[in-house]
Amino acid sequence: MKIIIFGSTGSIGQSTLSLIRILKNTQKFEILALTGNDNIEQLCKDAIEFKVKRVVTANKNCIFQLKEKLSSYNVEIYAGEEAILDTARMGADWIISAIVGFAGVPPTIEAVKYCKIVAVANKESLVCAGKLLMDTANTYKSKLLPVDSEHNAIFQCVNSENPKTIKKVILTASGGPFRNFTLSEMSNVTVAQAMNHPTWSMGKRISIDSASMFNKALELIEAKYFFDLKSNQLEVVIHPESIIHSMVTFIDNSTLAQLCPNDMRNAIAHTLNYPERKKIPIKDLDLTSLKNLSFEEVDEKKFPSINLARIILKTKGSLGVVFNAAKEIALDRFISNDIKFLDMSNLVEKVLQLPEMSEYECTLLYSIDEIISLNNRVRQISQQIRI
Ligand code: NDP
Ligand code: MG
Repeated sequence: MKIIIFGSTGSIGQSTLSLIRILKNTQKFEILALTGNDNIEQLCKDAIEFKVKRVVTANKNCIFQLKEKLSSYNVEIYAGEEAILDTARMGADWIISAIVGFAGVPPTIEAVKYCKIVAVANKESLVCAGKLLMDTANTYKSKLLPVDSEHNAIFQCVNSENPKTIKKVILTASGGPFRNFTLSEMSNVTVAQAMNHPTWSMGKRISIDSASMFNKALELIEAKYFFDLKSNQLEVVIHPESIIHSMVTFIDNSTLAQLCPNDMRNAIAHTLNYPERKKIPIKDLDLTSLKNLSFEEVDEKKFPSINLARIILKTKGSLGVVFNAAKEIALDRFISNDIKFLDMSNLVEKVLQLPEMSEYECTLLYSIDEIISLNNRVRQISQQIRI
């Protein structure tokens, strides 16, 4: 099986390589290409271990370092955004889209044109270009498979069902590190506290997004496009143990759930082996050791991001691009101590309320260039918003 890993140096990328390391004795893999950004050390180490054909860094300033470290190996070396798009054009049996943020959107769109199976971890692709991505996959007859644990769970629950019989989808959320904080305790939390996720080990940005529940907000929008759902079919419930990854209720009131240990290699393996199921020698689910599976309502006063996502869910246009770009800048500004934790949602709300953004409630951008240009404009505006 020919494989490409976009974002191989990140948390999902490393989980993918760990899985391949475990499975390579029983399955045949050829890694065509790995891409990263700043972590040249890791990129080189993995390129050598897996004897990859091509390595790419998105960061052009790192090309000399990359070339120097790999000078005695037979590997193609490239840098820059265009080189990542070109890597998608190599084609593969399976590609995982695991670049973080909007930077992952154009490569995912390109991947569905050239690769047979595209395993999507980059939720921003669905949030910013959901319709374009799903339609492009249809046109090019490629298969999109969700890696995000909730969406992978939903996918498994609805797999053999008639989509018309879905009543609602319930996304589970751990509640993050501030689940038991009061609103006033949340007002002064630090970046380190926000990164301290109780149940999952993930990259820095998604960890902080989980603490603010912007991650769940993005996931609601992701689910809308992946499964073609309406706003009133999407719910969130807090499930602190992170064992049930999501649930689907059908019109006959049956609810199906998917459970597995909270290790992203489970979802990645599901997409890697799809449509088959294969044994993966990692930790089993031990139900008897779990004392409890509990559920709570989301406190939307503490987590206004969920309410903001509902605005996007009700619209037909490209407001998701606005939401994501404002959120990315809010996150940057929180990380650099420019704004406080709770101000992230204030900033996103302010951007969504700008008169010029109302156009995107109805206008659906259907080319990647238009989407990139709106993303850039909203990022610029969001930098300047005063809080
Ligand atoms: P990480 O921050 O751990 O890794 C991000 C990857 O993207 C790294 O390889 C990084 O390179 C690369 N990257 C960063 N900036 C750029 C850029 N401008 N251009 C190209 N590549 C870039 O993120 P995660 O692995 O946690 O998340 C990846 C995606 O998967 C996100 O969209 C996230 O929401 C989603 N996801 C993650 C889950 C998880 O468990 N981590 C679960 C579900 C979804 P480098 O490290 O070399 O700088
Ligand atoms: Mg998730």
